[in-house]
Amino acid sequence: MTKITVAKGDGIGPEIMDATLKIILAAGAKIEIDEIEVGEKVYLAGNTAGIAKESWETIRNNKIFLKAPITTPQGGGYKSLNVTTRKFLGLYSNVRPCMSLHPFVSTKHPIMDIVIVRENEEDLYAGIEHQQTDEVVQCLKLISRPGCEKIVRYAFEYAKQQNRKKVTCFTKDNIMKQTDGLFHQVFDEIAKEYPEIENEHWIIDIGAAKMADTPEIFDVIVMPNLYGDVLSDIAAQITGSVGLAGSANIGEECSMFEAIHGSAPRRAGQNVANPSGLLQGAIMMLNHIGQTETAEKVQNAWLKTLEDGIHTYDIFKDGISKQKVGTKEFATAVIANLGNKPSVLKPVSYANNSALNLPKYKRKPAAKKELVGVDVFVHWNGTNPNELADKVKKIETNGIKLTMITNRGIKVWPDGFKETFCTDHWRCRFKPTENSLISKSNIIEILTSTLKENIDAIKTENLYSFDGKAGYSLGQGQ
Ligand code: NAD
Repeated sequence: MTKITVAKGDGIGPEIMDATLKIILAAGAKIEIDEIEVGEKVYLAGNTAGIAKESWETIRNNKIFLKAPITTPQGGGYKSLNVTTRKFLGLYSNVRPCMSLHPFVSTKHPIMDIVIVRENEEDLYAGIEHQQTDEVVQCLKLISRPGCEKIVRYAFEYAKQQNRKKVTCFTKDNIMKQTDGLFHQVFDEIAKEYPEIENEHWIIDIGAAKMADTPEIFDVIVMPNLYGDVLSDIAAQITGSVGLAGSANIGEECSMFEAIHGSAPRRAGQNVANPSGLLQGAIMMLNHIGQTETAEKVQNAWLKTLEDGIHTYDIFKDGISKQKVGTKEFATAVIANLGNKPSVLKPVSYANNSALNLPKYKRKPAAKKELVGVDVFVHWNGTNPNELADKVKKIETNGIKLTMITNRGIKVWPDGFKETFCTDHWRCRFKPTENSLISKSNIIEILTSTLKENIDAIKTENLYSFDGKAGYSLGQGQ
């Protein structure tokens, strides 16, 4: 018996959760349910996190969390509980299988069976945002080596366990050479440890286009958080409906299982929603807790039910479907099929599907880190970069010279183009000349001089080299 935490959520949540639990219990799932309240009611009662302190304790004690979708109220102040849960509990891996059920569910892509492994904690979802000037706001994109190693290794181990042939990596490292560059570099390093699995990298834009057009050429795809968020919804939708896909959020200690879709408030309380997405999440949960036989039984009954043409409204199509049913009736049909297998669709076998046991991340020895310059960001309302350069040169110190000014990343001094549009946010790069060095005291001197010269410095970024390799990007056009 495994104790699990269950949250029935908002909108269609309670209906699809009731259906899901009914099916897995009828199949013999050995679970004991601890129910907690999260979401809209909790938010509107004044708790901006959407969850009470005691509920965290329940989730942390039980470690396994089956969660229906929740509604995040519109407007400022409410934090997404999904993002908070993933980060608080260290659920670094988000696994989203997306498979066509042709010819039983209408799709433009009859041959499609991909699994998106999305990094779940980092990237722009760090949510570190600042307004810097009147005209410019920023969001920090944080990518870490442990984050990359854990997710990439998870993707390869998953592929190995599931007998999948290829792992593809999507990034935009032609532009983001440091952040996406690290993700790609770690992918190449770890791929070498799995010579039996094919590996490849695609730039995300063309990769996404290919995935939407010819998904049959992909197998497992691993990617940073934001790309994975967007692409997994697309992948699920093109199999036939977002209502069909489930997601596993896996951490070293805790895990959360859910549907990929939201609470669809317009469909709530009408017994029409498709419970399949949450059911897929629950099947991944059963595999994760070692109840693989039950998971297999439920999945085969679900496939058989879809094959029988018993469909909820979202996938119902005249000529393909046989019977349009509501949430409860769909659950009853799946229960009646427990023990049956599909005859056209491939029955599943989950004998090897338990939780993956990955090695813990080991920190590498520190590199030789050397300060080689500083970027001083300045709020300035002028338009001519030469004027700014003359002003900023006055804060040069001890052989540390202004070498470049950029505006939104593009070099505007020296030798800028008059056509380049400039905002009020300028990056002034200072580097020591050949015979000098730079120290943190020099940076303090530079900043102190900005006060004297009436330069509005809004932040600095230190430029480092790591083992002699530059740890910062060049200006665009430099
Ligand atoms: P949504 O996924 O809830 O619904 C979009 C549309 O998809 C629905 O109107 C419906 O037509 C269809 N749909 C979704 N699930 C379905 C199902 N099971 N059966 C049949 N049709 C289904 O997206 P939304 O309307 O943008 O978001 C609604 C709320 O859900 C928002 O408050 C959002 O913040 C929240 N949300 C929660 C989660 C989560 O809890 N994991 C995820 C996404 C969105």
